[in-house]
Amino acid sequence: MSTVSINVEIDGQQHDISECSWYFISPCGCTSGVMTTKDYDTGGWLTTEDQAMASWTPKRSVREQDKERGERLELGLREDVVERLEGECQHTPKWGAPVIPDGTEWGSATGLRTIHVVEELKDGEERSAWRAPICGAAENYFEISRSTRGDKPMCKKCLAIGAAA
Ligand SMILES: [Zn+2]
Ligand SMILES: [Zn+2]
Repeated sequence: MSTVSINVEIDGQQHDISECSWYFISPCGCTSGVMTTKDYDTGGWLTTEDQAMASWTPKRSVREQDKERGERLELGLREDVVERLEGECQHTPKWGAPVIPDGTEWGSATGLRTIHVVEELKDGEERSAWRAPICGAAENYFEISRSTRGDKPMCKKCLAIGAAA
């Protein structure tokens, strides 16, 4: 059995990729998270930023919007993880996250190409409800949850309204 070693360069020094991690860099410049360089689907290694992003965010349209917003991944040493993740982001918005108005949440509806910002769930509502998005798009039956973020890109009109609020 042969072992292939893959070397990558960090700050001018060569390192084996197994000693490295991918760090999430928010649009504000803060390090917000970490993922492994190991690709558990294939047993290989995620050696480029594009490969790592595709592994983390399989939906291409979502990934492209994240990139446009300035989300990046940066190769770093695994041993630096505690030091790199101990800082709290002091920016507004925190972690460069898209701002949505108070009392709203992201919602996803079948057949729509983007997720929209809608009024958050009220008492007695579970998961889904009829809503008219804040951008003026037609009323629809939305699954309302922050976790819809990875499903589809965010509506640009809703984003613009949130940013101006
Ligand atoms: Zn920050
Ligand atoms: Zn919208």
